[in-house]
Amino acid sequence: MLIDTHCHIDQFPNPEAIVVECEAADVKVVAVTNHPEHYEMALPHLANSERVFPALGFHPLNATTNPTELRIFERFAKEAKYIGEIGLDFSKAGLPTRRQQEELFNHLLGLLQKTSSFITLHSRGAEKEVLEALQIHKISRACFHWYSGAIDTLEEILSEGHFVSINTSMLMTQKGQKILDVVPLGQLLAESDGPYAKLNRKPCKPTGVIEVYQAISRKLRLELDEVKYILKRNFERASKHKMMD
Ligand SMILES: [Zn+2]
Repeated sequence: MLIDTHCHIDQFPNPEAIVVECEAADVKVVAVTNHPEHYEMALPHLANSERVFPALGFHPLNATTNPTELRIFERFAKEAKYIGEIGLDFSKAGLPTRRQQEELFNHLLGLLQKTSSFITLHSRGAEKEVLEALQIHKISRACFHWYSGAIDTLEEILSEGHFVSINTSMLMTQKGQKILDVVPLGQLLAESDGPYAKLNRKPCKPTGVIEVYQAISRKLRLELDEVKYILKRNFERASKHKMMD
């Protein structure tokens, strides 16, 4: 069994086909959303899936969208077992809405304080600020997705017990490889981030996370089965609940 901890299945041209593929290949997927509304829409479609889990999300670059979206997030925050993607984005694209993003992210983390859900985080250009917000709200064992910040901030994130999910695009860069060197095996997870992440110009699919597993296996000289076992255990710890086999 493989686990893809961050995939935008709803952004593929045919999401149903991706779900069928994941069921057939025994790939478990955290199906993240960028709008709370999309989570609500995905719920009935995924109610019977044993492998694809909808995640309640509110992407930082959507922080200025209408307030009814926030009501939807509030409504589902207590019961959702998977959250994402949420976070901050202080890259060029996100800087103009920095203040709105911080307000939204703090509000969302406040709602999640007493819940035990898996949280996958966006932190582009705002890694320190995301970590600080987690500290303020006492959120533990969250997962930094596609981390691209400084190594010293990463070390701080890791020392606090958070997780980091690696994708195939990261494996292609020196920086990504460096991140893979720094993250201890017990805090590693794998993600596709499809369809946004691409490999040979094709969107990465959940079944493609096998390449991340293989890269970890090669780098740490571990059997692939061992990597599968450890990443499953990591995911259970990050999810704070035991996963069904
Ligand atoms: Zn994403």
